[in-house]
Amino acid sequence: MENKKEKTAAELLKEQLCYSPENGGKQLSPDVIAAADAYCEDYKDFLDRAKTEREAVDAAIEMVQKAGFVPFDAAAPLKAGDKVYLNNRGKALLLAVIGTRPITDGVTIAAAHVDAPRLDLKPNPLYEDAELAYFDTHYYGGIKKYQWTAVPMALHGVIVRADGTSVSVNIGEDDNDPVFCVTDLLPHLGTEQMKRPANEIVRGEDLNLLIGSRPFRKDEESESVKLNILNILHEKYGITETDFLSAELEAVPAYRAKDVGFDRSMIGAYAHDDRVCAYPALTAMLACGTPDHTVVTILADKEEIGSDGNTGMQSAFLRYFIDDLAAAFGAKGHQVLSKSICLSADVNAAFDPIYPDVMARNNASRLNYGVCITKYTGSRGKYGTSDASAEFMGKVRRILDTNDVLWQAGELGKVDAGGGGTVAMYIANLDVDTVDMGVPVLSMHAPFEIVSKIDVYMAHKAFLATMKR
Ligand code: MN
Ligand code: MN
Repeated sequence: MENKKEKTAAELLKEQLCYSPENGGKQLSPDVIAAADAYCEDYKDFLDRAKTEREAVDAAIEMVQKAGFVPFDAAAPLKAGDKVYLNNRGKALLLAVIGTRPITDGVTIAAAHVDAPRLDLKPNPLYEDAELAYFDTHYYGGIKKYQWTAVPMALHGVIVRADGTSVSVNIGEDDNDPVFCVTDLLPHLGTEQMKRPANEIVRGEDLNLLIGSRPFRKDEESESVKLNILNILHEKYGITETDFLSAELEAVPAYRAKDVGFDRSMIGAYAHDDRVCAYPALTAMLACGTPDHTVVTILADKEEIGSDGNTGMQSAFLRYFIDDLAAAFGAKGHQVLSKSICLSADVNAAFDPIYPDVMARNNASRLNYGVCITKYTGSRGKYGTSDASAEFMGKVRRILDTNDVLWQAGELGKVDAGGGGTVAMYIANLDVDTVDMGVPVLSMHAPFEIVSKIDVYMAHKAFLATMKR
């Protein structure tokens, strides 16, 4: 029997006046939690299929083509309900669903990124030392280098041969594939190593991938382990050593996404940042029907290294795309951008009770509390960020509240504890109202990152509600 007590005056006043985010596990109905769990099964598949920016773009195109999206043709007319995509060099993607309102009413943008921290091969990567063969790597993005040793690694990417033909590489993911590994020093002999500052325990030049150990038997050639590897690569991919100069090969953790916890409430995987926002942005776009405002989803590259280059958000490719959309309706791009809104769909750092010192508890996001709105990122006195306006924060809040989206607000960490950025400022700089919104992550940028299933699902609901505004 339930014992219903009258609420006290203080309890009622607290309900009315206090900001009190709640754990979704406590307050959401079993149906919603089951929907979140089901949604995340497909998300895990996406993670396994899309470990690099190129693979994420390919997987996204496959998803949207099934839903009727076609390649964008700037010369073709557009009408409400049309669904188009523009593949930027295989590494970034723009998608649009044309809405019923005039394009000059602005578009709704969701901007996520699909690059992730990893170990890139150097342009001349192959060498032999002490009869062991290695790929020399150059790390990509912000990593704690010591986390990337003694982890099984797969190799993904593309090699362009001298004759211009290219070959895709994906080795280490199939159960029958070999994997690769950066070795670490045994603790028995690690006394001096462990005295170094943590950022030098493993140095950048120590991140060399072990790829072979058996010599080529046929002659006395020096470096015969390397020669044997080249022979295998020649047979498998038709490449020579020079072809590495025209290759992009990325070493990434070789394991699949897994449920985490006895309660299976979380997902552990490589590269949640930022597939955990890219995937919900895609599924929201597929579910938004014919919206009022035209919807534009961006899967960007190069966010982890500052968004520079022609596939990053500092490039003009978004502006050109908006110019072309506007032109299809006889308008100018700037007239569209000035009226547009953008969710910069990126992750935030979840509160980790093992490392509470870097977080201000009242302004940190937490696992299971829903999608996180981040008013600004940056560092120190709000440098290097877009600070969303009160008016725009108010608008976004109302959209989420009226669509049963569980949401929370969170900063990246304590003032002066460090900092970080997203693509928000590059889109805001185009005169677009922009705010960061995404999923809280534990162990961000580690080879195995953790998110909550409820939060992933709430990101989908949040993006969908905003697209249907
Ligand atoms: Mn990110
Ligand atoms: Mn990141």
